[in-house]
Amino acid sequence: MLKMARLNGRPEIFYSIQGEGKSIGVPSIFVRSSLCNLHCIWCDTDYTWNWVGTRFPHVHDVLPGYRKFQKKDWIVECDIRAVADEVAAFPCKNVILTGGEPMLQQPAFTNLMRTLRSISIDYRFEVETNGTLKPGPEFDAGIDQYNVSPKLENSNNTRKLRERPVPLRFFAKSPKANFKFVLAAENDLAEVLELAGTYQIAAEKIWLMPEATGWEALQEKRHWLVEICKQYGFRYSDRLHVQIWGSKKGV
Ligand code: SF4
Repeated sequence: MLKMARLNGRPEIFYSIQGEGKSIGVPSIFVRSSLCNLHCIWCDTDYTWNWVGTRFPHVHDVLPGYRKFQKKDWIVECDIRAVADEVAAFPCKNVILTGGEPMLQQPAFTNLMRTLRSISIDYRFEVETNGTLKPGPEFDAGIDQYNVSPKLENSNNTRKLRERPVPLRFFAKSPKANFKFVLAAENDLAEVLELAGTYQIAAEKIWLMPEATGWEALQEKRHWLVEICKQYGFRYSDRLHVQIWGSKKGV
């Protein structure tokens, strides 16, 4: 069984385009699992972890009407075959496992990848991960591309929680992994450089993206971020889904 995010009463599976990073613009099916082992203060999928009774702050706490989420209302346990059938109904073979933190459920996702490849060998799988968990061999064998997004201090997670040396070393060496960093301000760069140096992450494996949930913030940050990418040989990634849909979910 897979613990999926529940959105509008249904498991969150949708067909869209990859909005950021190495595969930006590629038509893709998104399978969103629930649960996360971090609690980023600006997380835009806080309905996967910001449960009633927890103490984690979120930037939306100041918004009128914002409430933490009742866990039972936002998780749906799904049979793997049912998820596979729903994915297979879309006219697309690029599947993105996302969350929350999908690597908390490696056995279930391994099973899903196997099931889909038994339907068609053309399926290709990417996983969006915060880089705090090392993949097991079976999960690793199924994945074509790791989109690793280590969190910085601006996420409000402690360093001990967000920076896990063993998985980071694994991803730095894996030819299947690329790294995405979300920069909220220019001084976040020092942390990116420190991580790249400590874990020997090659510049061509690094994509920098502006932290933004709206068009205006994107526009302000992309100018200085492009200059940083030019200076260090990093890739720049815009955030297409923010440009097209703003903060709308499930698109
Ligand atoms: S790691 Fe990702 S899903 Fe988890 S809290 Fe941070 S942004 Fe949200």
